[in-house]
Amino acid sequence: MTRVFKFGGALMQNAEGIMKVGDIIEEYSCEPLVIVVSALGKTTNALENLLSIYLEDKNSNESQEVYFKLKQYHLKILNKLCPNSEENAKLDKLFSELWEALNTDYKDHYFAYDQIVSFGERFSSFIVTNYLMQRGINVKGIDSTEIIVTDSNFTDATVDWKTTNKTIDAKVATSLSLGYTVVIQGFIAFDHKGMYTTLGREGSDFTAAIVANILNAKEVTIWKDVPGLMNADPKRFEDTFQLKKISYHEAIELAFYGASIIHPKTIQPLKEKGIPLYVRSFYNPQNKPSLISSDSSSDEKEHKIILKDNQVLLSITSKNLDFITEENLTLIFKALSQHKIHVNMMQNSAVSFSISFNYHENKFNALLKELDDKFKIRYNIGLQLLTIRHYSDEILNKQLQGKNIFLEQKSRSTVQLLIR
Ligand code: ASP
Ligand code: MG
Repeated sequence: MTRVFKFGGALMQNAEGIMKVGDIIEEYSCEPLVIVVSALGKTTNALENLLSIYLEDKNSNESQEVYFKLKQYHLKILNKLCPNSEENAKLDKLFSELWEALNTDYKDHYFAYDQIVSFGERFSSFIVTNYLMQRGINVKGIDSTEIIVTDSNFTDATVDWKTTNKTIDAKVATSLSLGYTVVIQGFIAFDHKGMYTTLGREGSDFTAAIVANILNAKEVTIWKDVPGLMNADPKRFEDTFQLKKISYHEAIELAFYGASIIHPKTIQPLKEKGIPLYVRSFYNPQNKPSLISSDSSSDEKEHKIILKDNQVLLSITSKNLDFITEENLTLIFKALSQHKIHVNMMQNSAVSFSISFNYHENKFNALLKELDDKFKIRYNIGLQLLTIRHYSDEILNKQLQGKNIFLEQKSRSTVQLLIR
């Protein structure tokens, strides 16, 4: 039975990281194995940046500089891994394609984003596949665009499971049965018109889950630069500990509240087939990994803290102070969905409706413009959204010391607070 391994960009930020990926794959490649790779290091951010600089000023030197830096970064890694290879010229050509793609007249920003940002995974899979081949591993790279089919909701595309089932069976399952280790790109996909789409930031985990679901894999392992799933971000909180096992349900809750360790859509396809998900240390693979499965016996015993920065609190009041009606709410949600704003928390009172979401300047301004003539709007920016699952008063009080609370919501298992 097949294993699916996902390696994130942080593990592959240099040639040494990719060599280590090679060591792990070598160890497991005698059994059916699918490798999902994400863009190297911070490439996705760099590509986002490149696009926005370029759109602001098509002739700026800065976009050329960012482009060349990115190109040098990738070529250097390839040269270290596969010296004297003709692959150099091929990667060079892929970079020329990026430059051409940048120099296209785009009408839709989301569409442009996917056409450009998808290059990150195209570069990384090219490098990783060629390196593994050179190491003598029997690998086959299959472009995600041949197997993951989505609608055309650019930057947050929805998978067409029916078509994807067929393509994965035809391409991936067949290659595995011929004895290949298969390398695919996370995060990126194709729509029915043959255009690149993406599955949302950090979407490679989701790609791994899609493939695992369709292949009925025996496990998915997400290799990480942390010991496993932690109860809070060790960089920001004291006394954190590893979660040895949590249930699918708990994981969905955590992802929903913004735990950045797993892409929110990842769990559902695994839960459906009962496929265990391991989060395992890349640097200490002998450490016991965290297991996400149907076992919920530890869920309530351990508290989990999630902190999301950069939150807006938007309070919407109707101009004539009438109640926030269903019609008004419909208008508000329509505007949110149109500007691709995901709500993190909401609350309503008689005359006002409050929501919080991630601050993104352009989306935020567009939303304000949309709601401005119908409603009275007040807002705060620069807030944090603190979520604690299975909290106790002691834990909560400790986290709230010296903080102002802007909005609060409590259930038996979860407390959420907007704070500064
Ligand atoms: N490279 C993409 C990102 O950084 C997808 C991923 O890493 O999962 O968002
Ligand atoms: Mg990444």
